[in-house]
This record gives sequence, C-alpha cells and structure tokens, in this order.
Amino acid sequence: MSSRYPLLFSPLQIGSVRLKNRVIMGSMHTGLEEAADGFTRLARFYVERAKGGVGMIITGGINPNEEAGAGAKLTNAEEVEEHRGVTRAVHAADPQVKICMQILHAGPLARISDCVAPSAVRSRIAQFEPVELTEEGIEKQISDFANCARLAKSAGYDGVEIIGSAGYLISTFLVEKTNLRTDRWGGAFENRMRFPVEVVRRVREAVGPDLLVIFRVAAMDMLQGGLAWDEVIALGRALEGAGVSMISTHFAWHEAEVPTIATMVPRAAFTQVTGRLRRALSVPLITSNRINMPDVAESVLARGDADMVSMARPMLADPDLVLKAQEGREDQINTCIACNQACLDHTFVGKLTSCLVNPRACHETELNYEPATVRKRIAVVGAGPAGLAFATIAAQRGHDVVLFEAGAEIGGQFNLAKRIPGKEEFHETLRYFSRMIELLGVELRLNATVHAEALRNQGFDEVIVATGIEPRMPGIEGIGHPKAVTYVDAILGRCKVGQKVAIVGAGGIGFDVAELITHSGPSGAVDIDVFAKEWGVDFKNHPRGGVTGVKPQVVSSGREVILMQRKSDRPGRNLGRTTGWTHRLALQRRGVQMLSGVEYLKIDDAGLHVRIHDDDVLFDVDTVIVCAGQVPARGLYDDLVVTGAKAALIGGAFEALELDAKRAIDQASRLAAVI
Ligand code: FAD
Ligand code: NAP
Ligand code: SF4
Repeated sequence: MSSRYPLLFSPLQIGSVRLKNRVIMGSMHTGLEEAADGFTRLARFYVERAKGGVGMIITGGINPNEEAGAGAKLTNAEEVEEHRGVTRAVHAADPQVKICMQILHAGPLARISDCVAPSAVRSRIAQFEPVELTEEGIEKQISDFANCARLAKSAGYDGVEIIGSAGYLISTFLVEKTNLRTDRWGGAFENRMRFPVEVVRRVREAVGPDLLVIFRVAAMDMLQGGLAWDEVIALGRALEGAGVSMISTHFAWHEAEVPTIATMVPRAAFTQVTGRLRRALSVPLITSNRINMPDVAESVLARGDADMVSMARPMLADPDLVLKAQEGREDQINTCIACNQACLDHTFVGKLTSCLVNPRACHETELNYEPATVRKRIAVVGAGPAGLAFATIAAQRGHDVVLFEAGAEIGGQFNLAKRIPGKEEFHETLRYFSRMIELLGVELRLNATVHAEALRNQGFDEVIVATGIEPRMPGIEGIGHPKAVTYVDAILGRCKVGQKVAIVGAGGIGFDVAELITHSGPSGAVDIDVFAKEWGVDFKNHPRGGVTGVKPQVVSSGREVILMQRKSDRPGRNLGRTTGWTHRLALQRRGVQMLSGVEYLKIDDAGLHVRIHDDDVLFDVDTVIVCAGQVPARGLYDDLVVTGAKAALIGGAFEALELDAKRAIDQASRLAAVI
C-alpha cells in the first residue's frame, strides 16, 4: 500500500468481487471498436492500462441492438468471441484487474435515421428526430439490454455498466422535456424511472447475483428543467432495489451549456454532488470529471465524496498513472491537460481517439519506442513541445541527446499557453518533460541560441530543428504604431494593454488573448465557486439539473474588447469541437464583440481603422493586439542546408499553418520512434 494514498490503494469488496484499489479507468469510445483488427488493438490498449495498475476498466460503449447506434454491438455469439479476446488478455495481464463492458444505447443521439426515444423529441445536437417507442418497442429495448449483459458475462467480463445519462436513451425517459408520454412510462417520476429500473432488474435477472452491474446516472444533468435532487435520490434507491452493485455519477448531458470536462473546469469540481448522493444511498458510489492526478483522487476519497474514482482521459495520457502513484513516482506522470484535442474532438468526428500528450494512446500496436539498434549522438534545437517530445523519446530509446534552447526555460509557446486562465494544466506537461529530461539523461543547454556554424565539429550524427514559429506581423499600414503589440508581449505583460482593445485575428490565440485580458481576479486555477457562478450552477441548493433558474454571473475585467477576423464565417469556428463553444460563450457573456469580414485599413493615434461590408469604421481603441497567425522559424534550418549539414524539421518549424501541440508532439514522437 502506498503511504501517500492510503485510501486510493485500499481494496473494495463488492459482493463476491474484490477490487484491488479504488481507481477505475472510465469508459471511452476509442474508435478501435469499429476499426479493422480493432479488438486486437483494443486488447493491447487495455492490457497496457491493466499493467499500469488500475483496479477496474470500463470499456467504451457497446450497443445492445441496431437501434442503439451505429457503433460496435454485442448481440450474438460471434461478437462474443471478439470480446473474449479482450477480457482474456486483460485477465492474463493481471488477474486482479476487473473489466466491465459499458452497454450504450444512444437513443435519440444515435446517428441513424430510425433512432428511438420515449417521445419524438429531437435533441438540439442530434442528427435525426427519434421515432417514439411503442409499448412493444420498449419491451424489446429492455430485453436487448438483458441479452447484451448476458452475452457480456459469457464473453468473460466481470460486469456491465449501463449508461443512464448524457442524453442517451435511458436518461431521456427520466427527464420531462424528452419524455412526453402519458402511459405507464411517462408522467410522474415513478413512471419516468420505470424504464431504467426495469432495465437494471432484467439485466440482474439475466446475469445472476455475482456479476457487477453498474449504473451511470446524471447526478446533476445541467439541464434547465432537468432532474430534481429528490428524483436523483429516488432513482438511486429504486436502482438499489433492482439490483445494482454500484452507481457511477455523471454530470451533464452532451447538450448542456455548462462545461464539465474542459480544461477550465476546476479539478474535481463535481465530486461534492456524488458525496451528497453517497450519503443517501447504500451501494458504493463512483465519481469522475477532472480528476487527473493521484493527490486529487485521494482527497476526493478523503472527503467521503465517493468509494471509487473514475479517471478516463488521464489513462490515455499515461497508462502507468496508478503504478507511478503507487511507487511514489507521481512527478513522472504525464498528466491529462483536459484539452480534448486528440480524444473527444476525434470521437465526435469519427476519428480514432488518441492523446495530445501521448500519441501512443490507441496506437499501441504500431507506435512503439523500442531500444535503438545504433546509438546516435543527436542535437535537438528548440525545447518547445516538438523538441521536448523528440528529445525525451530519443533518449528513452538509448540515444545520446543534447537539447538546445534559446530561452531560459523549456516549453516554447507552452510558456505562453500556461498563462492563459483555464490552461494552468499546461504547467503539468512542462513538469513532466522537465523530469523526463533529468531521468533520461538528456543534456539540456538553456540560454543557448544555436547557429549553424556552432553545430559543426560537435560530432552530431543527426540535427533535429524544432525552432518553432514566429508571430506573423501583417502588412497593415501603421503596424509599427505604439498601439500595435504582439500577442507574445501582451501575454508576457511586456506591454501595457489599455481598457479598449482590438484583437486582430480570431484563431486559437486570439481567443486565448481575449480570455486573458477579460479575465478578472488573480491568475491561477479557478476556484469551484467562481466557476459555478460564471456558469450558473447552484451546487448548494441543487435546483432541477443544478442550473434551473440560476443566472450565470458575468465575471469580467471590464475591458471593452473586439475580436475580429477577415474571413466571413463565425469567429472561433476552428476551435476544438467539444470545447470551442465554451470559449465563445464565456467571451460573449463578458461582452466581447466578435466581428467577421473585416478589412484592416490602418492603425494610428485615433485607433484601428477597418472596413466592414463596405463601411469604413474607426475603433478608438488604446491597444491593438496582433494574433494574425504564425510563420515557421526556419532560419537555422536554411543555414544548415547551405552548409550541407543533415537536418530534419519538426513542429512549427516544419509547418506553421494550423499547427497545434497535438500535431507537433505527434510528428516529433513518430520521428523519434524510428531514428
Ligand atoms: P515552439 O513551442 O514555438 O518552440 C520552439 C522553441 O525553439 C522555443 O522555445 C524557442 O525559444 C526555441 N528556439 C528557436 N530558435 C532557436 C535557436 N536557434 N536555438 C535554440 N532554441 C531555439 N496548442 C494546442 O495544441 N493547444 C492549445 O490549447 C494551445 N494553446 C496555445 C495558447 C497560446 C497562447 C499559444 C501561444 C500557443 C498555443 N498552442 C496550443 C500552440 C502550441 O503551443 C504550439 O503549436 C507548439 O508550442 C508548437 O511547438 P514547437 O515545439 O513546434 O514550437
Ligand atoms: P490560427 O488559428 O491560424 O489563427 C490565425 C488568425 O489570424 C485567424 O483569425 C486569421 O483569420 C488571422 N490572420 C491570418 N493571416 C492574417 C493576416 N495576414 N492579417 C490579418 N489576420 C490574419 O492561428 P493562431 O491563433 O496563431 O494559433 C496558432 C495555432 O495554435 C493554431 O493552429 C491553433 O490550433 C493553436 N492553438 C490552439 C488553441 C486551442 O485552444 N486548441 C489555442 C491557441 C492556439 P483571417 O485570415 O480570417 O483574418
Ligand atoms: Fe487529456 Fe488532451 Fe490527452 Fe484528451 S488529448 S487525454 S484531454 S491530454
């Protein structure tokens, strides 16, 4: 047992099942479920996490029938065989690790035209209007849940998790606005909860007393008119009566307007809700959301908020998280920064899940960092995300790596990103790389601007140029005026930013700068109360959904800000699919004006002159912050080429257009894996 995390590493007995610790790897759809040879790859993915120390794994959602969605199904004996490969592999890796299969019926969110729901109510995020289920249709769904659970048992799973939240089928029975029925499945809450309770009762009947049956409930669904607190408790008690082994709490439906997993959500923001439910129920409770480090998990357990902690994305970022915590190596954990860029953003567009900080996630069968056959001496120039990923992986493979950085610290643009309120997790990535540099013996030379000449005669077999980008300064008349500043100077506080500000460029950095200059209060991670106020969540009184009738309270620095771009489409359109809306909404609430179709004319003492739809307009701003994209910083590379030296480009230096850290780290890791 780890002395630092006594609760996290204490076993839990649930009926006849013993869990070795309190950490669950939460369910994530990876896309491997439907990929060619996907189950073999899934097995490898789960095995790495099982070896990494988790107590229990919940698989990605598996559909119990055709109506449930277009994803992988478990409906017959042939499909059982595929799943058996996964359960066997996990149990062989560590017989103490349990694996449960999530049964997912997406209901009205299924991406199929004949999707079903209690009533024909289309979700604002759904593709199709669902078909209202008949009485026979309801019976068929229940029986398919039971059949799927029975098949899961025969495939060797230790349990099933039934997802009853998020806007999927079961949850739409529970909430009034999606259940308009007047028969025994609708109306009073007793009727609305009949479907989930019946599903659990029949699943329990089908699998017998020993299999774990977990039910995922939206303990706070963040919907106007959502579930009332007494309904959540009534549901929990009815599920206990129907035979659940554990209840897992979820927060929000996919369509809710409160961020619940994005990086600006404070760590463990919602576990207090689980804690309250735990005190009203007798089965063990699982909590989740923004629990990304072992100390956070331990404190959740210490507060009595839950019996178990579910971490999903953190297990993509670092499969060995639990093991590292157990061995006192938490400073080596590659922490999930809650960016969603390579996981959920991929899932929502049908791309294979991975991880920004760990491109191996879900690619375990094809991206491996094997020991190098020939040890090389490698110079890496630039310690931004690309250079850091390359240097550490190359060193891990046994190469002799020297990492040069012009600045006084590692990190490149992450040193700007980490100053943006809500992006404090970027510090963790830098802490991780810093520790890896030490452990792997990378020779780090800071304050070392490299020129091509200097690399000569140093005996390097390879030179990797990871010199990143330079901010683009567009040719606007008056760009040299003192009112015009770069985003670098604005973020680092190297210039004065006035009360009235125009931001030129509404890409990721334009939005981040707007966040920074409209943010009020001290920098650093946002406190849960401040977050709740800003997003209109009432944790204390728990009105319906946690949000009904609660007005978000704008917290702003009071600056007048105009964010603009030349393109005619909506600003922020290219922000992350699952997080972009949070940035847009937060800034709109702070009164940030967003303009498209802007032509920049000039900057002078009067302010910024623009033309919008043929009208000339003057914005009498004090400061114009230029966030107009970036160009590759390729001077060193060009000089090396001139001298005939062999060099490879990675990250922003390779291609600045639409470059993000996901692409920089992925490219660097893949090159480091084969060099
Ligand atoms: P850089 O990070 O630019 O690093 C290059 C490094 O090379 C620098 O440290 C530089 O000092 C060094 N260098 C240059 N020339 C030399 C030389 N001659 N000798 C020695 N050293 C040299 N991306 C995301 O994916 N998600 C985000 O949420 C996100 N947020 C961001 C927020 C902000 C405010 C900013 C500015 C960027 C953000 N990015 C984000 C972008 C991300 O940081 C970049 O895509 C990434 O840093 C590019 O990595 P890189 O290693 O190629 O280059
Ligand atoms: P970006 O997203 O490409 O945006 C550049 C902005 O500058 C656009 O609004 C563009 O819009 C404008 N622009 C381009 N050329 C211009 C010119 N010549 N004159 C005036 N305006 C011009 O780039 P970025 O904001 O610099 O961000 C860099 C990278 O970091 C991005 O690729 C992004 O993925 C990443 N990043 C990600 C996040 C995140 O949260 N995921 C946050 C920050 C940064 P118009 O051309 O329409 O004017
Ligand atoms: Fe976490 Fe981002 Fe990786 Fe997703 S992509 S697991 S959010 S670090």
